[in-house]
Amino acid sequence: MDERSLRRRIRRITVIVALVSAGILAAGAVASYYLRNILETALTEHMESEAEQYKINIQRQMDADFQTLDTLASFLQYSKMSTDAFVQGFLLSKENNEFEHMGFFGKGNTDINVTIDSDIMKDVSLDMMNDEVQEVVRQAWEGQSGVSRIYEVDGVDMFTYAVPVYRGEEPVGALIAAVGTGAFEKVLQDHSILEGEGYLHMISDSGKLLVRAKDRVVREELETIYDNGYFMPEEQEKIEEAMAAGETCFSEFTYEGVTYQVFLDPINVNGWYLFCVQTAQGVSSTIYHLMTNTRIMTMVVLFLILVVIAYGYGLIYQGNKRLIRTIYYDPLTGAYNMVRFEYNVTPVIQSTYNYSLAALNIRQFKFINEIFGSRTADMLLCYIKKVLAANIREGEYYCRSSEDMFYLLLRDTERDKIRERLEKMIREISRYGFDIRRDYQIMLYCGVVIGTDVRDEDPSVQKALTHVRFALDTARSSLKKSIWFYDTSLHKSEILENYVESHMNQALENQEFKMYLQPKIDLGTGRVGSAEALVRWIPEEGDMIYPGQFIPIFEKNGFCSNLDLYMVEQVCRQIRAWIDEGTTPVPLSVNQSKLLFYEVDYIDKMKGLLEKYQVPGNLITLEILEGLAMGNIDELNEKILRLKELGFRISMDDFGSGYSSLNTMASLKIDEVKFDREFLLRLQERGMDYDRQVVIMSEIVELTKKLKISTVVEGVETQENEDLIKKLGCGYGQGYYYSRPVSVEEFSEKYVDQ
Ligand code: C2E
Ligand code: MG
Ligand code: MG
Repeated sequence: MDERSLRRRIRRITVIVALVSAGILAAGAVASYYLRNILETALTEHMESEAEQYKINIQRQMDADFQTLDTLASFLQYSKMSTDAFVQGFLLSKENNEFEHMGFFGKGNTDINVTIDSDIMKDVSLDMMNDEVQEVVRQAWEGQSGVSRIYEVDGVDMFTYAVPVYRGEEPVGALIAAVGTGAFEKVLQDHSILEGEGYLHMISDSGKLLVRAKDRVVREELETIYDNGYFMPEEQEKIEEAMAAGETCFSEFTYEGVTYQVFLDPINVNGWYLFCVQTAQGVSSTIYHLMTNTRIMTMVVLFLILVVIAYGYGLIYQGNKRLIRTIYYDPLTGAYNMVRFEYNVTPVIQSTYNYSLAALNIRQFKFINEIFGSRTADMLLCYIKKVLAANIREGEYYCRSSEDMFYLLLRDTERDKIRERLEKMIREISRYGFDIRRDYQIMLYCGVVIGTDVRDEDPSVQKALTHVRFALDTARSSLKKSIWFYDTSLHKSEILENYVESHMNQALENQEFKMYLQPKIDLGTGRVGSAEALVRWIPEEGDMIYPGQFIPIFEKNGFCSNLDLYMVEQVCRQIRAWIDEGTTPVPLSVNQSKLLFYEVDYIDKMKGLLEKYQVPGNLITLEILEGLAMGNIDELNEKILRLKELGFRISMDDFGSGYSSLNTMASLKIDEVKFDREFLLRLQERGMDYDRQVVIMSEIVELTKKLKISTVVEGVETQENEDLIKKLGCGYGQGYYYSRPVSVEEFSEKYVDQ
């Protein structure tokens, strides 16, 4: 699974979780909405029925007042309508009601008017009365009983009942009684309303507050219910519409952060309304509590479900993150691994040439591992990661691919700049050496390919990596320069590769592969102990081609086995020739590739060659590469033993350049170890590293002595090199200091029977 699909999976889970959560929340909202509706319905029904009761009470009061007036009116009908009779009737009815004034207006506009305090005034003109009173009096003259709108007298709100007084069938006057609105206040003041949690007001259809409850929600003195904007505009509109149509209406308003339910119920008198407010929260009805509890429970359950989902999601998310870490990160340093690096750099390399790819390696890392311990080595790797991370810029990447191999993708394309940056990193890393052991200097080497240098080829990460490894290889064997750029001359080697592959078979047939010999000097005697056979390709036309240019290709395409066998045959033939000449044959070494070594009939072929040329096996040393030791050691040892039975000596070549360990070397039944040139190069390159390097070498030499394995040091180029390896107790030296590889003729002349 690649990171993209992993991320897609996380995204999918996130979307599902979000959808499920949204679904649950929506369900919760719907449930809450329904619960709220049910609650509201329950509450409003409750309010409705209570308000209805008060309405009935008010109407009952008014009916009683009318009845009193009607009785008095019929009494007046049959009396002579004298003042005394009127006063008597008034006093009688006053005992049973709250009339403040009473009066009679004959249809002629003047008549008696009586006040409660028995001040009897006669001949009061109707015009002297309030407009509201006049209005109902005139209605009564027309035979219609009524209640006036509310008016104010000396700061007291009043209204007036008026009933017609008949003489025969004709209304002849109007009997009126004025009442203070206080009469209603008593009814509205009842504390039992809405179980003590509600307030009643009487309002006009224009919203004017006519009678206000004493204990009320809104403490300010308001003229109308719309004052101060406690109602939302849309609620006000709703109320106004309902009242214009004389209908009931439910609404709500907010006062000091609390929302109150409101019910408006018409009384059917003068457009008056009961305005019923309730502090809904306080209503302790079973329904309300049930509803509230249900809502709380629903919310709690929803919350728990969300918590569980969030937890589960967290687990999956973490799991996927861990998976990504395992697949894409190097567990030791936390840097990206190669898979992730390729994933990151592919789009860059495929879309632009403005990049440079570098590979960074530590010299002799395996010895740091073995001698200083893997903990120190691990710490060093982590430190390198830190240095790289600190030197990387936006859009640049780095990774640790394996062991001590780091790759970097930089955005610089100028050599100087790249070199400057890499050298800075190398310097910073080298400083760490002092922390491990004061005297040890970490050395790095680096291969670089610049995108613009390879712009004429198809952009491909694999190609870029091949180039950079190639440059790294060159850097490894150079040591003079720690940073190598893949350039056109290296590029030429690819052209060469084509040539090599297309000409190799013909070349072998034409005997273009020549055996050169390089002596291994016995450090004890200073004489030639043996010689290594090194192949040279000398085409009929053109320059000599060196093994470094074709052996790697042959190793890849399998031709190496043919060449190696050919070389073994050359070695046998040469020894035979020396024997036949009567000279003392010089023992020869010959390089064996892994391919040949593992061929099924390898041993038989080798045996066949010894027999064909009649040479003793102990004159021939087979140099195998330490890379072979990466495989199954038992299997390798078995093969080694069989070769040794034939008499061959076995040498481990290039020891120290690869990844085999001291342990592996010790467990192999070899006769000789050849120290890679790198050992000496390190010694001559950096003084500071000198002591440490000496320690490493002497430890190895010490071990080989115990194991009775002879040692050959490659790359002896100077007198100092020789002095040093002698001091260390090495057995043989091989290198340009003694002789370059030379043709057989030259070798025979110089070294045979000297
Ligand atoms: P090698 O077996 O480690 O051979 C030693 C290489 O070091 C030779 O390079 C030799 O010329 C070079 N050398 C010797 N002394 C010095 C020195 O003092 N300084 C420096 N700088 N170099 C020195 P050459 O001949 O180019 O061979 C390179 C490699 O190619 C060999 O490394 C070996 O691995 C491979 N090779 C050569 N001939 C054969 C062969 O016939 N079969 C196989 N399979 N590999 C071969
Ligand atoms: Mg060799
Ligand atoms: Mg070698």
